[in-house]
Parts: sequence; C-alpha cells; structure tokens
Amino acid sequence: MRVLITGVAGFLGSHLADRFIADGHHVVGLDNFITGHPDNIAHLIGDERFSFVKHNISEFSYVAGDLDGVLHFASPASPIDYLKLPIQTLKVGSLGTHNALGIALAKKARFVLASTSEVYGDPLVHPQPETYWGNVNPVGPRGVYDEAKRFGEAITMAYHRIHGVDTRIARIFNTFGPRMRPRDGRVVSNFIVQALNNEPITMYGDGSQTRSFCYVDDEVEGIYGLFTKGDANPTNIGNPVEFTVRQLADLIIELTGTKSQVVMKPLPEDDPKVRQPDITRARTMLGWEPAVDLRTGVARTIDFFRGLAGSPRMAGTA
Ligand code: UDP
Repeated sequence: MRVLITGVAGFLGSHLADRFIADGHHVVGLDNFITGHPDNIAHLIGDERFSFVKHNISEFSYVAGDLDGVLHFASPASPIDYLKLPIQTLKVGSLGTHNALGIALAKKARFVLASTSEVYGDPLVHPQPETYWGNVNPVGPRGVYDEAKRFGEAITMAYHRIHGVDTRIARIFNTFGPRMRPRDGRVVSNFIVQALNNEPITMYGDGSQTRSFCYVDDEVEGIYGLFTKGDANPTNIGNPVEFTVRQLADLIIELTGTKSQVVMKPLPEDDPKVRQPDITRARTMLGWEPAVDLRTGVARTIDFFRGLAGSPRMAGTA
C-alpha cells in the first residue's frame, strides 16, 4: 500500500508512519511544521518507503501517484497550541479535512480522520460512548479545536454518504509517549519536563479532574486496526483506565525521583472535569485494547525526555 499522512512530523503522525513502514508499506508524509518537528521524521529521511512534502494541507493540495489511504492527522492538538493558532486550527479541521477528503476521493483511497475526545466537550455522560453527542462550548477557548473536529466528522460522513468514500473516524483520547514536544503544554509532557528540570509541577485546579491516558504504541495500533478492519462510524480509541491529574503528578514525582513540588495554578476555562472512553466498539470490532499501563508508559516517556536533556527543545527555546 501507499498512504498519505498529513501531520507526519507530529507526535501521532510520525508514529503512524513508522507503523505503516514497519508493515512494508510506503508513506507520503505532509507537514508544514507549525507544531510538528523535523526530529520526529529524521530517522525516515532516506528510507525508500518514505517521501516528504513540506506543505499546508489547508491550502490546495496535489499528490502524484496512486494512494490506498489518506490519514488526516495534521492539526494543532494541545490546548496551548490551539489558543495560539486558533485560525490555523479551524482551517486545518475544516479546509484541511476537505482537501484531504478530496484527495481520497480522487485516488479512491480509504480515509481516516484523526478526531478527538474533545467532540464530547465537558461531558455529561461518563464514560463516553460514541453515541454521546457531547457538551461543547462553541465560543469558548477550546471551541476552535472542538468545532473544527466536529465539522471534520460531519464532512467525513458526507463524503462517505454522498461520494461513497471508504472512511474512518478515530476519536482519539489523551495519548502520550516519546516524540511529544517537551513544551507542548500537555499534562504528561509538562509534568515530566518540569520534574526532570526540577521546576515546580504546575497542577491546574485541585488536580481532581480526570483523564485516561493511552500510551502511543497502543493508540497507533488501534488506529492501524481501525484503518484495516474498521467501519465508517466514529470509534473511540483510547485507554479506558481513568486517573486524576493529582495521581499522575504523584506517579511522575515517584518515577523521576525529582525534588520538584506541586504548585496549584488556575484551572483553564472549559477544562473538562472528567474523561474516559467507552471502548466497547473498538474491542468488539477490532479485537483491540491497550496493553501498556500508565506506569510503564510514563517510565518510557521519562527515558525519552531524559535523552533530550540539555537540548534547546527541553529549555523551551526551540
Ligand atoms: N494540566 C495540568 N497541568 C499542566 C497541564 C495540564 O494540571 O501543566 C491539566 C489540564 O488542566 C487538564 C489535564 O491536565 O485538566 C489534561 O490537560 P492536557 O492539556 O494534557 O489535555 P486535555 O485533556 O485538557 O486536552
């Protein structure tokens, strides 16, 4: 197979490229590096199964040659990124998804949308099954991401229904692991980088809010399974084991052996109070479920960030 991955220099996009290449497939990768980083694909440059195009998928896009799959993974995805880049976030979720779907239609390729648990907003149903329609503030700070992804789901279903494109919608829950940007503002990367630098660990609110963290290898295996075995209906892909942010901080303090102390910071506006995927659908349809527990995944992620010690990326200057 030959697949196009938008956002290939991002955290998930780069791991997904590795997954396809490991199975002997060819990957055409697209990225404009607004949040992705060349380091994430440096190991693929020169591999005859990988080619790279620096391009913004929100602009008109053309890819030469046949494609069997289009995986649309380009988007700012951390709250601090979509606060800084609200218009780019809206554009890549809407215009970018439209362009990526157009490529899939023209090439008769299967399409995967990287959607998100953010479509559920601050959920009133817990855990969240795919049948829940969500509780999203369209005009709040997260609205640019949440509504762009909701639009992305709608246009993906429209291309499926009207043009018969073979589509998939992966609702991705919090994922972590190597290749996260050290200063991307996510809770796992923030806490680990702060712990390794002996900086205060910034807990927003009282830390009683919950998230369910999926190690990247599990997440990518779920998405790969959805690509090969799934259907067009939205599918939650995440780890169903729920933790409070406080518990995560305690685990990272223990595993790093840091001297850092937890400091409380104000809770950002519209920060979801709980989040936990109901993965019954993925389990049944794909025979998939996460295998890496939080402690193991966090230990591997700490090793990755330790490897970046001294780099300008760890200091937040690159
Ligand atoms: N969070 C925190 N400290 C940080 C970064 C995040 O306490 O330095 C909290 C944040 O308020 C949220 C949770 O951790 O409740 C997860 O935040 P993240 O940005 O990783 O992703 P989200 O699930 O909110 O999109």
